[in-house]
Amino acid sequence: MKKKIIAYERVEKPVLKDLQKKYDVQFFKNIDPTTDPEFLKQLDQAEGIIGLDLNVNKDLLEKAPNLKIVSNVSVGHNNLDIEQLSKRNIMATNTPGILTDTVADTIFGLLIATARRIPELDHFVKNGEWVQSIEPEHFGINVHHKVLGIIGMGRIGQAIAQRAHFGFDMDIVYHSRSRKPEVEETYNATYSDLDELLSQSDFVCLMTPLTPETERLIGKREFQLMKESAIFINGSRGKTIVEQDLIDALTNGEITAAGLDVFENEPTETDNPLLKMKNTVTLPHIGSSTHETELKMSELAATNLEKGIHGEKPPNLINPDVWPDKHKGS
Ligand code: NAP
Repeated sequence: MKKKIIAYERVEKPVLKDLQKKYDVQFFKNIDPTTDPEFLKQLDQAEGIIGLDLNVNKDLLEKAPNLKIVSNVSVGHNNLDIEQLSKRNIMATNTPGILTDTVADTIFGLLIATARRIPELDHFVKNGEWVQSIEPEHFGINVHHKVLGIIGMGRIGQAIAQRAHFGFDMDIVYHSRSRKPEVEETYNATYSDLDELLSQSDFVCLMTPLTPETERLIGKREFQLMKESAIFINGSRGKTIVEQDLIDALTNGEITAAGLDVFENEPTETDNPLLKMKNTVTLPHIGSSTHETELKMSELAATNLEKGIHGEKPPNLINPDVWPDKHKGS
């Protein structure tokens, strides 16, 4: 009998087709996984889950007695309760690395679009308001030769630093849990504590994972520390900031503008004030969503999944503590 797999929300079609040849794959999209009867029925049998943003917590795991692996089609894994997964000896995997340059491109695009007010001006031109649009009140600000503060100098943070240093002659200040001597040398970057970074930077780019330590990392106090001319970019997860405090900071002129790929709730509420502001540029969490990269992510997630359900070690195991236990006595 074919092994049962749940595919959730996003797995690229060619990869899904390939998996369907080998396994009994049920694909779910736009459902409530806590109540959907068909999903819960499949969950009872499933040996593997592959997909995006499924909230895998204690409740869900209690309904998945046969589960061996949860394979995220993303690098972020704040949707997974790793402690609970490890307790049950279930593997968790993600797709690091292959999306790094694509996300960095998106974040840099967002940064330029916000600084140069590209969506606002595009709107003017398309509405036949070319002449009004080129008044000084619609001018943007320079990106090149400015100070870029990167919070979270990991894979994506470094790819942003590379673009900023070599492409735009920006000065880079960064904050991470640990110092990165190679990054400092390669991109002439300066390590700083968070407050210093916030007060020095023309652009503040948040690129940490969402963890208990980074949840609500940037709020009222942090926005007040930024320059009034600062542009804030969030490419991490929506809950790393206090969204209401960002709304206040933009409304009160404590900072100049914000570029956002992520929101506290996704999809965000249609009446979110951030969507009505001229000084925001908003994207629907598409940092890694190009055709090429989504396909590569699905392929890597499928490799992780297949290794896991066949009892081999997946290349991108997030909770390696489950591994030795699997081989006790073997
Ligand atoms: P990564 O290589 O693990 O880098 C994460 C960085 O954050 C590391 O440098 C880490 O510091 C730093 N960090 C962690 N906790 C911190 C804290 N409390 N204070 C300061 N810095 C902290 O991950 P990545 O591949 O660059 O991805 C980063 C995150 O981007 C993902 O977790 C995900 O949430 C987000 N993301 C978003 C999109 C999108 O579509 N918008 C796409 C992909 C990823 P150390 O190096 O010192 O440990």
